[in-house]
Amino acid sequence: MSKKIVIVGGVAGGSTAAARLRRLDETAEIVMFDKGEYISYANCGLPYYIGGTIEDRQKLLVQTPESMSARYNFDIRTLSEVTHINRAKKTISVHDLKSDQTYEETYDQLILSPGARPIVPPIPGLNEAKALFTLRNIPDTDRIKAYVDEEKPSKAVVIGGGFIGVEMAENLRDLGMTVTLIEMANQIMPPLDYEMAAIVHQHLRDKGIHLILNDGVKAFEGNGTKVLTQNGKEIDTDLIILSIGVRPENELAVHAGLSVGTRGGIQVDEYLQTSDSSIYAIGDVIEVTCYINKQPTMIPLAWPANRQGRLVADNIYGKKTPYKGTLGTSIAKVFDYAVATTGNNEKTLKSLGIAYEVLHVHPGSHAGYYPNASPIALKLIFDKKTGKIFGAQAVGKDGVNKRIDVIATAIKGGLTVLDLPDLELAYAPPYSSAKDPVNMAGYVASNIVEGMIETVQWHEIDTILENGGTLIDVRTPSEFKYGLIKGAINLPVDELRSKFHELPQDKTIYVHCQVGLRGYIATRILRENGFEAVNLDGGYRTYEQVKGLIDTKYDNY
Ligand SMILES: Cc1cc2nc3c(=O)[nH]c(=O)nc-3n(C[C@H](O)[C@H](O)[C@H](O)COP(=O)(O)OP(=O)(O)OC[C@H]3O[C@@H](n4cnc5c(N)ncnc54)[C@H](O)[C@@H]3O)c2cc1C
Repeated sequence: MSKKIVIVGGVAGGSTAAARLRRLDETAEIVMFDKGEYISYANCGLPYYIGGTIEDRQKLLVQTPESMSARYNFDIRTLSEVTHINRAKKTISVHDLKSDQTYEETYDQLILSPGARPIVPPIPGLNEAKALFTLRNIPDTDRIKAYVDEEKPSKAVVIGGGFIGVEMAENLRDLGMTVTLIEMANQIMPPLDYEMAAIVHQHLRDKGIHLILNDGVKAFEGNGTKVLTQNGKEIDTDLIILSIGVRPENELAVHAGLSVGTRGGIQVDEYLQTSDSSIYAIGDVIEVTCYINKQPTMIPLAWPANRQGRLVADNIYGKKTPYKGTLGTSIAKVFDYAVATTGNNEKTLKSLGIAYEVLHVHPGSHAGYYPNASPIALKLIFDKKTGKIFGAQAVGKDGVNKRIDVIATAIKGGLTVLDLPDLELAYAPPYSSAKDPVNMAGYVASNIVEGMIETVQWHEIDTILENGGTLIDVRTPSEFKYGLIKGAINLPVDELRSKFHELPQDKTIYVHCQVGLRGYIATRILRENGFEAVNLDGGYRTYEQVKGLIDTKYDNY
């Protein structure tokens, strides 16, 4: 007898699972429910349709129920909300939103892919706010787009500096609005560490976004025409986008008594099976295992949902391919920059008590002598003892996606930082350098692992100087004059050998240059000549990216 497989949710995870199921079994009865009108649409493209980069709304609709049914012979029921699971009877209750009727449907296997919805906290004045929107699906998009087209707002406030908030800030700015982005934490884009986010903060400000950090929204007034913050700011606005994060749509699972984790994600085993062997769950609604630290976590991204969609179908048909955990590889466009990450950041590793080492490099996106090369700020986080790669972050105008994808692949392939110099990557001057940025990061990391160099970080050097430490700036005098670390002594690397007599023999000498390379050379010279020398990782550029941004004029906005 053929199987009857019922799927709740027909977008990223659900429709991927359905298509794979059909390819595995032409006879299965596959019924897919979605409470919305649309299935298999491009959520990730929604901000760009609002901003006008994607002009044709039709292009967001990757599949329609009709086209998908025609190709895959599915039973697709939209505007149909699954409201209850009866595990004992192996049935679900479905509320048909068109007819307002409720009926039961049986299943042999049930796949839950209901996603996650925007968090909407009970902020005073929220219900009265006329032009306050969240963004999750096509109807949300249509509402925002209609408001923008008809009301022509000139001022917008975006609340929350995650990926969706930042993408919306950019798209609304591109439409000519004055945009304020409010973020409660001290940085936007949580997968980045602070000093990497600082580059993005500056870029947003350069593009005219009013960025307010360390502040939350207290209330809305005047039907949402005024936003009051906890620190006492008042911002007039015509439009509010609330994007402070998402929470899993776990109600069905919770009421059915399936196991959920502390953050509400449905718990599944490596084969994506819930605590009920007939029910599987995938996508934003599940708790996943972090690929790096093996702890349970929530990572609502499209790659995991798509991957899990395929694997769940395989597993239902006995192929037994485990989901190996989520690495959290991600990328976003922020005006001229691409911002990408993979694996764990420092904040996560610190909170778990995992020892790590960090390096920053600033190589060009391609050969400097070929036009339009631009720097990539690349951070690598790894285990100093074993060379295991914990994660990477990159910000730059060009070539960021390639470098993070290579490192993500290296992590999944079990490579260590010692293997990165040996990656033979495609090179011609318009695309890279003979030593690719990933190779460069690998060389620096190998030097650290092999004890060739010791480094200090941007956040340590001020204290070192305050405590009487010696810092030598080995750049040229003109670079030194242009911008310096207060307390540093300028001693260009090429003059170093003739100035040994001026240097202290009895204490550590800290060294820095612009991005770390000349500092490394100087450190080697000093160490080979009997001095104790330590390089400032990432050089002046990494230091300045953070310190140069502590600018009160923004904080007083
Ligand atoms: C604006 C936006 C931009 C994004 N950009 C990116 C990006 O650039 N890169 C990236 O990796 N990820 C991005 N994401 C996240 C990505 O879209 C999600 O991770 C992915 O869609 C999750 O897939 P899913 O199947 O779990 O849930 P979804 O794709 O959200 O699908 C869930 C579906 O289930 C339906 N549903 C829920 N409950 C029920 C019920 N009880 N009965 C019937 N139907 C139900 C919902 O209506 C919904 O249609 C973005 C998301 C948004 C909203």
